[in-house]
Amino acid sequence: APQQSVTVIGLGPMGQAMAAAYLDRGYHVTLWNRTPSRADALVERGAILADSVESALLANELVILSLTDFDAMYEILEPAKDAVAGRTLVNLSSDTPEKARAGARWVAGLGGTQLTGGVLCPPPLIGTPEASTFYSGPREAYDRHRTALEVITGTTDYRGEDQGLAALMYQLNMAVFWPAMIAFWQTAAIAGAHGLTAQEIAPYVTENFAGMGHFVDFYASRIDAGNHAGDVDRTAMGLASMEHVVHTASDAGVDTAFPEAVHDIFRRVVDAGHGADSFSRAVELMSKPAA
Ligand code: NDP
Repeated sequence: APQQSVTVIGLGPMGQAMAAAYLDRGYHVTLWNRTPSRADALVERGAILADSVESALLANELVILSLTDFDAMYEILEPAKDAVAGRTLVNLSSDTPEKARAGARWVAGLGGTQLTGGVLCPPPLIGTPEASTFYSGPREAYDRHRTALEVITGTTDYRGEDQGLAALMYQLNMAVFWPAMIAFWQTAAIAGAHGLTAQEIAPYVTENFAGMGHFVDFYASRIDAGNHAGDVDRTAMGLASMEHVVHTASDAGVDTAFPEAVHDIFRRVVDAGHGADSFSRAVELMSKPAA
């Protein structure tokens, strides 16, 4: 079989790990990055650093973009617009569903094809079978490049033709991930004020996270059914409980902004007259802009 080849544009920690994964699999890899020095280690391993964006695009039909956001794509490709025609641009940069759709229209207008992706693992897990990426955009392009995409993460989850879907699924994951990790930092801060290390509390936090699946499943069907009965929990109880968390934090002399934000949501549900309902009632409050 002829040697497989790919272009990778964007060499932050993610793009570097992706290019390295392709080199590991024997791909011919062409690189471009705004800061060329980030390609050094990869060039030493046999990758080619293109001397322009245009030649990076012309080198391969398959082009992986790993950038901070979609605006970076315009900034990079604008001066080499003519070379986009006939390329498949796999944009793995984080951004909103709307930005992903607009990017796809822009690429299509230049005669290229975009596939949007949302990678769900940190750089060290790139190239491993368990790691997973959401994709959306033309099914044909996904199918045609699937083998190459599975070099980046062994698992791929194609969500549909709408370019916004992969970005949406990625953002939904981030909306859970960042606050959940900040909740851990919060507990580490409170525990630290009491002389407990992060490592000492880590097993308890891990167990707490591991039990979350049960709550997610339980409340998901109730939310879909519009059932916010206060038979297993009441928002008034949740409000009191969050108040205890806020006070535990303030008594410990640590920042209280994060638990206060959660407390505020409980308070608004109670103020709206739903204190006797489950705290899942908050979904309704959160389904429109805050008053
Ligand atoms: P970085 O933000 O470090 O990647 C930055 C890359 O984008 C660099 O190549 C940088 O170039 C380039 N870039 C940014 N702005 C511009 C611009 N205006 N013009 C030209 N180039 C630009 O991110 P990561 O590598 O960590 O991640 C890449 C994407 O993957 C991000 O969207 C991130 O959200 C997502 N992601 C990251 C994960 C992680 O754990 N790191 C996990 C999952 C997804 P230069 O080197 O010149 O600065």
